[in-house]
Amino acid sequence: MTTDLLGIESLLTDEEKATRDRVAALVSEHIRPHIAQWYEDAVLPESIFPVLAEAGLFGMHLDGYGCAGRSAVEYGLAMQELEAGDSGIRTVVSVQGSLAMSAIYKHGSEEQKQQWLPAMAAGDVIGCFGLTEPTAGSDPAGMATVARYRSGEWVLDGAKRWIGLASVAKVAIIWAKVAEEDAAAADVEPGVRGFIVPTSTPGFTASPITNKLSMRASIQCDIELEGVTLPADALLPKHPGLKGPFMCLNEARFGISFGALGAARDSLEAALAYAKERTQFDRSLASFQLTQKKLVDMAVELNKGQLLALQLGRAKDAGTLEPYQISVGKLANCRTAIEICREARTILGGNGITTDYSPLRHAANLESVRTYEGTDEIHTLILGRVLTGEQAFS
Ligand SMILES: Cc1cc2nc3c(=O)[nH]c(=O)nc-3n(C[C@H](O)[C@H](O)[C@H](O)COP(=O)(O)OP(=O)(O)OC[C@H]3O[C@@H](n4cnc5c(N)ncnc54)[C@H](O)[C@@H]3O)c2cc1C
Repeated sequence: MTTDLLGIESLLTDEEKATRDRVAALVSEHIRPHIAQWYEDAVLPESIFPVLAEAGLFGMHLDGYGCAGRSAVEYGLAMQELEAGDSGIRTVVSVQGSLAMSAIYKHGSEEQKQQWLPAMAAGDVIGCFGLTEPTAGSDPAGMATVARYRSGEWVLDGAKRWIGLASVAKVAIIWAKVAEEDAAAADVEPGVRGFIVPTSTPGFTASPITNKLSMRASIQCDIELEGVTLPADALLPKHPGLKGPFMCLNEARFGISFGALGAARDSLEAALAYAKERTQFDRSLASFQLTQKKLVDMAVELNKGQLLALQLGRAKDAGTLEPYQISVGKLANCRTAIEICREARTILGGNGITTDYSPLRHAANLESVRTYEGTDEIHTLILGRVLTGEQAFS
C-alpha cells in the first residue's frame, strides 16, 4: 500500500518522477543492503562518492561546469530518496553540492569556478564547508577565526567544529573574519569572507568526531587552522559578509525540507510492513485500532509535509521562494519527520531498538538534522521576526 494518500504523485512531471526513481534505485542497490552495518561500525565508505558522482548528484541543481542542471523539485526529490536510505548519505550530497560547490558557484570568480567545480561534480574532489566553531554555532557572527593579509598572502588562524567530510575533503571553504586594515591592504570588503583552502595546505588539520550517537554513517570533524597561508586569489570575491554563507545554507535547508521526509516515509513503511506481519493476541498488530491510529497520523503528517516541500520546490523553480519560507519547510518537516520516526519505532516494539529496522536510526539521525542548518529554535525566531517585525535572537 502506498503512503501517498493525497495522490501527490500526480503533481509531479514525468522527468521529476524519473529522477526520483533513479535515485531510489541507487539507494536500493548501494545503500540499503549495507547501511545498518555502516551505522553500527560508524563508517562512511569512500566508495560511495563515485556512485553518487556518476549519478550526477553532486551539484545537481547547478548549471554548467559539469553539473547536471536539474530543477529544484528534482533536487528535492533526490534528497528525499537519499535520506530514505540514511540522513548521513543525503548529508554527503548536501555538503558537497549545496554548501561547498554552491559557495564557489555563487561567490567565486570565473577562474575559481573553472578550477574546482567540474572536478567536484565528477567526485574527483570532495569539498567541505567550515562555518561553525567550537564557540560559535547558532551565532556565526561570533566566529573567532581570522584571515590576516600579510605580504600579499592570506594567513588563516582559528578552529572549526562539526565540519562534514573535512577529513576526506581535498578542498575546504573556510569562513573567516577580515579586519578593516587587512581588507584595506588587500583592497577587498572587510567582515566575514570565504576562502578556498586546499586541505593539503600546511597548518590545516581535520580530526573526525568519533563519539556520535547520531549520523554514525557520516563524517564530521574538528578543524585546526594554524598559520594557513594562501594566495591572494583564494578569497571568494562576491557577497561579503554573512550573506555569503547564508546563501549556501539556504540551498541545503531547502534540500532538508524534502530530505527529512524520506527518513519519515521509510520509517512509516517499515512500521506498516511490521504491523501487518507481527501477531499478538492472535491478531496482526495492524488490526488493532490503536496501531491504525498511529499509522494514519503518521501518513497524514507525511502527506502534509510532502505538499509543503513541493510548494517550496515549485516556488524555487519559479524564482519566487523567500528565505523565510525555507525556514517553514526546514522547521516543520524536521519536526514532523522526527515524530514519525519515533512513533514508527513504537510499533516495532523491542525489535525497533535494533539496527534490524530503520526508524530509530532515522530518528537518531534527525536529531542532527533538526540541529544543523539552523536549529528549530533559530528557524522559529526567523519566522517570529517575519510575523511580528521584532528581532528576538539576542
Ligand atoms: C551532524 C552535524 C553536521 C554538521 N555539519 C556542519 C558543516 O558541515 N559545516 C558547519 O559549518 N557546521 C556544521 N554543523 C554545525 C551546526 O550547524 C551547529 O551545530 C548548529 O548551528 C548549532 O550550533 P551549536 O551546536 O553550536 O549549538 P548552539 O548554538 O550552542 O545552541 C545550543 C542550543 O541553544 C539554542 N539557542 C541558541 N541561540 C538561541 C537563541 N537566541 N534563542 C533560543 N535558543 C537559542 C539552540 O537552538 C540550541 O537548542 C553540523 C552539526 C552537526 C550536529
